[in-house]
Amino acid sequence: MFVDSVRTKVIAGAGGMGCRSFRREKYVPHGGPNGGDGGNGGDVIFEATSKLTTLMDFRYRQLWKGERGVHGKGSNMHGKNSAPTIVPVPCGTLIKDMETEELLCDLVEEGQQFIAARGGKGGKGNARFVSSTNRAPDFAEKGEPGEEMEYRLELKLIAEVGLVGLPNAGKSTLLSSISAANPKIANYPFTTLSPNLGVVTISDYRTLTVADIPGIIEGAAEGKGLGHDFLRHIERTRVLLFVVDTGDEDPLETLATLENELAEHSALFAERPRYIAFNKLDVTENRERFEELKNSQKQVYGISAATGDGVEPLLEELWQAVDRVKKEEAGIEVPEPEHEYLYEAPFSVEEENGVYIVEGRRILRAIRMTDFENKQAVRHLQDVLEGMGLYKALKRLRVEPGATVRIGEFEMEYQPDS
Ligand code: GDP
Ligand code: MG
Repeated sequence: MFVDSVRTKVIAGAGGMGCRSFRREKYVPHGGPNGGDGGNGGDVIFEATSKLTTLMDFRYRQLWKGERGVHGKGSNMHGKNSAPTIVPVPCGTLIKDMETEELLCDLVEEGQQFIAARGGKGGKGNARFVSSTNRAPDFAEKGEPGEEMEYRLELKLIAEVGLVGLPNAGKSTLLSSISAANPKIANYPFTTLSPNLGVVTISDYRTLTVADIPGIIEGAAEGKGLGHDFLRHIERTRVLLFVVDTGDEDPLETLATLENELAEHSALFAERPRYIAFNKLDVTENRERFEELKNSQKQVYGISAATGDGVEPLLEELWQAVDRVKKEEAGIEVPEPEHEYLYEAPFSVEEENGVYIVEGRRILRAIRMTDFENKQAVRHLQDVLEGMGLYKALKRLRVEPGATVRIGEFEMEYQPDS
């Protein structure tokens, strides 16, 4: 399991200063004290969000500060309390005490919060200190400093995209090219087998964790050096990207080999969406070859890991694919390609002792809403019944002319018009 681990410091906002002030009145040297209180400083709060999947933001920023409370003012005006500073962390983040490593909180669910540092209390203004012995206190409190804390945040990282390829296909180069294309990339070096896990920031909250999996093919079919944990980890990647050297003797044969090796490892890989990147297209012969290859398989991309050509649209597609899988897993409804229509027949007809009984919510309503005293209304009803297909249905049922048709309270004699 890859564990992303960062150290972070938080300082909550200090309380605002209490105010030292006196009422100004003509001829009164010291009117009554009227300094307002300072507002409370803002807390710093860690809040879990599913938008983030890594702790990368914490690599670029080690200190988070809360807002200071607003200072009190004269005329008994209190300073406002400051709103908390919300620091988003990915769901699944463990918050540990920096010193003792004690687990303080496991932020599992969306929106779950942990108060990382409490804001300082606002200072009292001088108006608070009036007493029988001191009618004109000439002092106010300062705001309390905000709490300062240090934490270790840990997150178990699951690579979303696993790179699968023969040695020298260009997997490592692709990862570093992704990094080069985007200054925000962090390369996470890991010890076990030292596979590289790269985090790609596509835009804002859209990130993609990509793992270069050197071990899976490179002599690993016999289990050489591959721990079970590692295999379990890559089984959990959501999307696979096959990286193939287009200059291989037979790139399609290479693909078949990769598929076989994967299948030997675990049946789970069969269910993963897969994409193919034919690499090294900066080489002219490879470009010509790619023209022949690109229609042979589905979801094919031509790239040059070395120059970065074609990498961007590939990353975009991979992100979309991962997003789709995540949404399916979360049970969020993905629109079906075809709609299902709920069809309610306007009526049903059943024969009982020579009487045809028509039933149905819509047709009964049409009857109930008709004023039978009014000839026009009755004629309109005929049209409605016609429109609902009642006469056609009776004809199909070979109802004898003159037979009684009953709809709710209403009875009529069936007279086919032809
Ligand atoms: P890996 O074993 O799959 O990680 O492959 P590497 O990334 O280490 O690359 C193997 C070799 O192929 C290196 O010498 C790379 O410089 C070269 N290589 C990788 N990508 C490209 C590419 O797009 N074009 C060219 N011309 N060479 C590449
Ligand atoms: Mg490599």
